[in-house]
Amino acid sequence: MASTPSPIKSLLVGGYEVVIGFETHAQLSTRSKIFSRASTAFGAEPNTQACAVDLALPGTLPVMNKGAVERAIQFGLAIGSHIAPRSIFARKNYFYPDLPKGYQISQFEIPVVQGGAVEFFLGEEKKTVRLVRAHLEEDAGKSLHEDFIGQSGIDLNRAGTPLLEIVTEPDMRSSAEAVAYAKELHKIVTWIGICDGNMQEGSFRCDANVSVRKPGQPLGTRREIKNLNSFKFMQQAIDFEVRWQIGQIEDGHAIQQATVLFNPDTGETRAMRTKEDAADYRYFPDPDLPPLCISEQWIEAVRAQMAELPRNMAARFQADYALSEYDATQLTQSLAMASYFESAARASGQAKLASNWMTGELARRLNAQDLSIAQSPVAAPTLAQLVGRIADSTISNSAARQVFDALWEGATDVDAVIDSKGLKQMNDTGALEAIVDEVIAANAKNVSEFKGGNEKALNALVGQIMKASKGKANPQQVNDLLRGKLSV
Ligand code: ADP
Ligand code: MG
Repeated sequence: MASTPSPIKSLLVGGYEVVIGFETHAQLSTRSKIFSRASTAFGAEPNTQACAVDLALPGTLPVMNKGAVERAIQFGLAIGSHIAPRSIFARKNYFYPDLPKGYQISQFEIPVVQGGAVEFFLGEEKKTVRLVRAHLEEDAGKSLHEDFIGQSGIDLNRAGTPLLEIVTEPDMRSSAEAVAYAKELHKIVTWIGICDGNMQEGSFRCDANVSVRKPGQPLGTRREIKNLNSFKFMQQAIDFEVRWQIGQIEDGHAIQQATVLFNPDTGETRAMRTKEDAADYRYFPDPDLPPLCISEQWIEAVRAQMAELPRNMAARFQADYALSEYDATQLTQSLAMASYFESAARASGQAKLASNWMTGELARRLNAQDLSIAQSPVAAPTLAQLVGRIADSTISNSAARQVFDALWEGATDVDAVIDSKGLKQMNDTGALEAIVDEVIAANAKNVSEFKGGNEKALNALVGQIMKASKGKANPQQVNDLLRGKLSV
């Protein structure tokens, strides 16, 4: 394994601007194929899920799967696209052993989903990537290369699996932005349930079109990196490609339009073929399939069945719980995360605190152990109890972190943990005052500095008192007491 080059962080690389557009194939979660009744289940014995239509036997005809169309409509509604009232299936002609018909049924001139946009945060910056289109098409079969017997086999189980190909404008300007876009798109298709999102099994595969140019120049020639099926490889492949293209141009070579593959073992992209143009595919409308007609009523019926979308939910979180757009977006990364937040916020009445703990401590712990929120050892009602105890001043923030540790290790009763660890904040003013007096007496230097106008000297004193109280003092109360005693 080659050592991994560091990710490109800057927007201009050696004076070049990076331009990226994505084509993503999302496998639609229908039980049967797009034009036949064969099963789409993953992992079956080769050729056990390929019926006469998938094998392209003479005399067979395709029949459109209504569920696939509804999933395309759901996607269009989720990202604010125009749903074409009439779209056309076309034949994309090419020869390949895993394509028995000699053509793939796709959509060309009039796709079912047109326009729309995907919005997401890159760090704290809001980005919008415009979509050109999303069209329905069938997947091809698979060639299996059995090196040990020196033969290749064809598995047609995947032939006819429904795909939605989602195409963006060339709006992205870095690998980080491309990955953030792909993650957001993945979130949307899994949230609305049209795709299982399983990248290892190929249910969500991205092709990244990459070019570079000097700022202000027309678009450069692109190369298309095929079939990226992990977010990590996506970033590595794009960064390698960007450095390679700049190297070529700097050496005086023009970029040839090409299709390339990323090899995760070497970390390099390599040309697989020069890129075909649309004209090479001899597209024409498929005479076996009538136009796909979608009525307003059908669209409205689909809309009525859809659950609340992530961006609507984020807007509602901002309005109902007074959260920032950034926090609301963080909390709607998945449906599971959003429901966790809502139940913690409702149970505690402390939405902002619950949000802070979820995006802070909880997220950090989950990431560190690669757990999903559904696997969190701390359940939403327990987190609600914890933030409730911070809000009613029973414990300080730092004590709360100790309670959280115990909860993470399996404790379930917040009050019991507070008692057994003796973490209750000091409410006895007399005892606290005694500590404050001691600290004032022992720190004459800080005291005189504060009196001389140095505000920072007060923090040093607060720190000493918090330490002497073993974290049980209420910092605000300490502050007030100190200022009272030191006021001249
Ligand atoms: P094709 O029909 O050959 O697939 P498209 O025009 O449909 O080509 O573009 C395919 C993808 O490539 C789109 O996502 C588009 O945004 C992207 N793209 C087009 N031109 C460029 C370019 N110069 N640099 C980067 N991406 C590009
Ligand atoms: Mg294309």
